[in-house]
Amino acid sequence: MPLKSFDEYVALAEVAHGHMCAGQILGLRLAIHGVTLLGIDDPAGQDRKRLVSFVEIDRCATDAVPIVTGCRLGKRALKFRDFGKVAATFCDLQSDRAVRVAAKESSKKRAQELHPEIQDKNAQQMQAYREMPDEELFDVQWVRVKLGPEDMPGYKAPRVVCAECGEGVSFKREIIRDGKPLCRSCAGERYYEAL
Ligand SMILES: [Zn+2]
Ligand SMILES: [Zn+2]
Repeated sequence: MPLKSFDEYVALAEVAHGHMCAGQILGLRLAIHGVTLLGIDDPAGQDRKRLVSFVEIDRCATDAVPIVTGCRLGKRALKFRDFGKVAATFCDLQSDRAVRVAAKESSKKRAQELHPEIQDKNAQQMQAYREMPDEELFDVQWVRVKLGPEDMPGYKAPRVVCAECGEGVSFKREIIRDGKPLCRSCAGERYYEAL
């Protein structure tokens, strides 16, 4: 199924995200712009194995990206880099091209100029982000993204057991230290503290 209409995406995003908001509209526009620049007509269907997306913020806009691209964390096709930016990079594995699309800092101010009559900020931005041309909303940069085999959606590797905690580690995410396999947590990247 080729790209859907914008309103169809809005309906899907609202269900997935739990509400409709300016961030969703921006995220949908951003993702549609990205796949269109890459010339991918059917990202969530026929072309679903072509695309890997990187998102750079853990806010509303990010939830809209899988709606358009079909890229999901659980398929290793969605990568999160916590940079605090409304931006995403779309990688076409088939043509080996990638494009980074970033929301312009000026977009909020532009929304104000376009719809001073709408008091509510979120409503104002939702309306404006639907109407503004891509060039006003986004900066676009063609980039190269180095994806290793372990970054690819279908990558498999033997499961190893961490020499320290005994938990299994898949897909070569282990770290070898003094000849022994360690999970990333035991190797020093632990984000939690045992109580
Ligand atoms: Zn939201
Ligand atoms: Zn461990």
